[in-house]
Amino acid sequence: MIKFEHVNKTFADHPALVDITTEFKAHETTVIVGPSGSGKSTLLRSLNLLERPENGQYHFNDQIIDFAQPLSSKTILNLRRKTGMVFQDYNLFPHLTVVKNVMEGPVQVLKQSPADAKATAMTLLDKVGLADKADAYPSQLSGGQQQRVAIARSLAMNPEYILLDEPTSALDPELEAGVLRVLLELAQEKDSMIIVTHNMEFARAVADKILFVEAGQILFDGTPAEFFKQPTKRIADFLAAMTF
Ligand code: ADP
Ligand code: MG
Repeated sequence: MIKFEHVNKTFADHPALVDITTEFKAHETTVIVGPSGSGKSTLLRSLNLLERPENGQYHFNDQIIDFAQPLSSKTILNLRRKTGMVFQDYNLFPHLTVVKNVMEGPVQVLKQSPADAKATAMTLLDKVGLADKADAYPSQLSGGQQQRVAIARSLAMNPEYILLDEPTSALDPELEAGVLRVLLELAQEKDSMIIVTHNMEFARAVADKILFVEAGQILFDGTPAEFFKQPTKRIADFLAAMTF
C-alpha cells in the first residue's frame, strides 16, 4: 500500500499540496476529483516523483521516504518503476509499431528477451482490444486506440500501481468509452490504480475510494457512495457544476 503523511508541495510561494495525508490501498482504484488547478496532477506526479514535495513522508509498502531528505537516483528509479504513469496525450513513439511500443520498456529497461516481451505485449494488446493493430503505427490509430496502447505499454512494465492523469480528456466522447471500459475491466481485476478524472459517472463506477481536492487540500476522502450523497455543501456545489 501507498501512504502519504503530511505532504506539502509549494510552487514559488503558491501552495499546491497542503498537509496531504491519505492512503492508496493495493488492489483498489482511487479516483481524484476537484476543480482545475486544485493540485490533482501535482498529487499524482508526486507519487511518481515527477514532482518533489518539500516535506512529508511517502510510505511504499515497507519502504519509508522522507521528502525533506535527499533521494538517491536508485530510490527514484525504483519508485518510478513501481508507479507507471499514463499521460493525457499518450506519448507513444511515432516511429515504432504498436507492438514495438509495448515491448520497448520491457526489452530496454527490464532486459526481457524480445520473444518474451512480444508474447506479453500481444497478450496485453488483446486485453485492450487492439491485437489486430499490433503492426500499425500510432499515426494510423484513433486517439482512443493510442491511449489503449499507452495503457498496455504501462502494464507491460508490471508496475505495482498505475497512475492515470485525465486519460480521456483529449478524446472525443465516442472514443472515451473504449478507454474507460478497459480501465473498468482492470479495476474489476483488482489492479491498483489512481485516476484523475472529471467524468463523474466513470468515477462512480470505477472508484473504491474518492479524494476530493481543492486548493491543495483533501476535502473528502471516502467511498463513492458517501461522496455522491453530497455530504457537504462544497461537494454538492461541485457536483451541481458538473451537471446541467
Ligand atoms: P490540477 O491538476 O488539479 O488542475 P495542478 O496540480 O496542475 O492542478 O496545479 C496545482 C496548482 O499548482 C495550480 O495553481 C498550478 O498553477 C500550480 N502549478 C502546477 N505546476 C506548476 C509548476 N510547474 N510551476 C508553477 N506552478 C505550478
Ligand atoms: Mg491536472
